[in-house]
Amino acid sequence: MDFTLTREQDAFRDRVRSWLETNIPEDWTRFGLSEVPRPEAYDFLRKWQAKLFDAGFIGLTWPKEYGGQGLTFVEEMILHQEMALRKAPPVLNVLGVGMAGPTIIAYGTEEQKKRYPSKILSCEEIWCQGYSEPNAGSDLASLQTRAVKDGEHWIVNGQKVWTSLAHIADWMMLLARTDPDAPKHKGITYFLLDMKTPGVTVKPLKQMTGDSEFNEVFFDNVRVHESRVLGGVNNGWAVGLTTLMYERLALGFGLQVRLRITMDQLVEMARRMEKNGRSLTKDPIMRQKLAQLWIDTESLKYTGARAVTKLLKGELPGPEASTGKMMWVETHQRLQELAMEIQGPYSQLTRGGKAAVDGGLWQYSFLRSRANSIEGGTTEIQKNIIGERVLGLPKG
Ligand SMILES: Cc1cc2nc3c(=O)[nH]c(=O)nc-3n(C[C@H](O)[C@H](O)[C@H](O)COP(=O)(O)OP(=O)(O)OC[C@H]3O[C@@H](n4cnc5c(N)ncnc54)[C@H](O)[C@@H]3O)c2cc1C
Repeated sequence: MDFTLTREQDAFRDRVRSWLETNIPEDWTRFGLSEVPRPEAYDFLRKWQAKLFDAGFIGLTWPKEYGGQGLTFVEEMILHQEMALRKAPPVLNVLGVGMAGPTIIAYGTEEQKKRYPSKILSCEEIWCQGYSEPNAGSDLASLQTRAVKDGEHWIVNGQKVWTSLAHIADWMMLLARTDPDAPKHKGITYFLLDMKTPGVTVKPLKQMTGDSEFNEVFFDNVRVHESRVLGGVNNGWAVGLTTLMYERLALGFGLQVRLRITMDQLVEMARRMEKNGRSLTKDPIMRQKLAQLWIDTESLKYTGARAVTKLLKGELPGPEASTGKMMWVETHQRLQELAMEIQGPYSQLTRGGKAAVDGGLWQYSFLRSRANSIEGGTTEIQKNIIGERVLGLPKG
């Protein structure tokens, strides 16, 4: 990839820079360092995303007629880099922006493309992803939630689990089985489900962080109009995989930015913490560990750039996106472990403890980071994908 910016791209960077300079609320970091939106920050993040939308700094690569800016992934990368430098807040509608929107733009009817994407960008409508079920996670094609045709509607019955943000979502990307007699990858359909439809019940699940960020979702005779099928009946596997590719791309690329922000905060904390009366950043072993993390964070940026090159050539995100996701997971978990090491005995003090470092936010992020190697497809599954589809190894 050529990193030299054109004059227009340079001007775009200046515009982003000066906008961020004046528009990031000073005190937003009171909501914490987490990559994942925390409940107490929902209202603030809704407004922040709406502000980004009004300024034209979200959905840069989406077509203008669907609410985007019609720019390239180079501008997207510039925006992400500037946001990292300025420590900007994340967006709330992560699943909508990272997955639902691009998939609707790729597979939607003209009516669907006019109806959904711009409300995703403005954060008027939040999306969740209804894929996993109690017996279908890594082996997603085994999903059992059923949709049966009844006139112009589909009647949905079944259950999803681990559905992030379902408790605040307006819409769900729903995969359901529409032909139980077809081979398991072939009888699945992708629906756009209005979460307020009668028969949808959301039950929060508590995680080890103490937050309830994901949920169980139950469907009891839920009626979905046929106009809300995305990409054709029984074509849900292909549509659903597109979403997953975008998810891994977003995780590997977008989260690199947040990783960089967290990395800077880690170094800042190491400067403050002392061992034998000296700042921890004077300790040669600690310096090595911090430097290695910084190097790994930077190399993630370039792996992201490789994926961008592919997109610039007009190709869809491919199995290489798995590499970025896997590397991000490893680096982020190591970073959070180092945060605990830096705090030493203080690492045992969690939120609410008077002497907890930074209000116990690092303890939250450390616990939350354990989920990184599961969410968005486990590390083992990413390795299978890389082995089979990138390296061309035989199937496991
Ligand atoms: C924080 C969080 C948020 C999530 N959000 C969502 C969401 O919004 N929407 C959604 O649909 N899902 C979501 N998930 C679910 C997630 O996608 C699944 O947990 C994941 O795909 C794994 O599925 P599983 O939990 O059923 O585990 P399983 O598939 O049962 O796997 C169990 C273990 O076996 C290993 N394994 C399984 N198959 C293989 C294989 N073929 N080769 C090697 N090892 C294998 C796995 O790596 C894992 O270690 C979320 C999960 C987490 C942790």
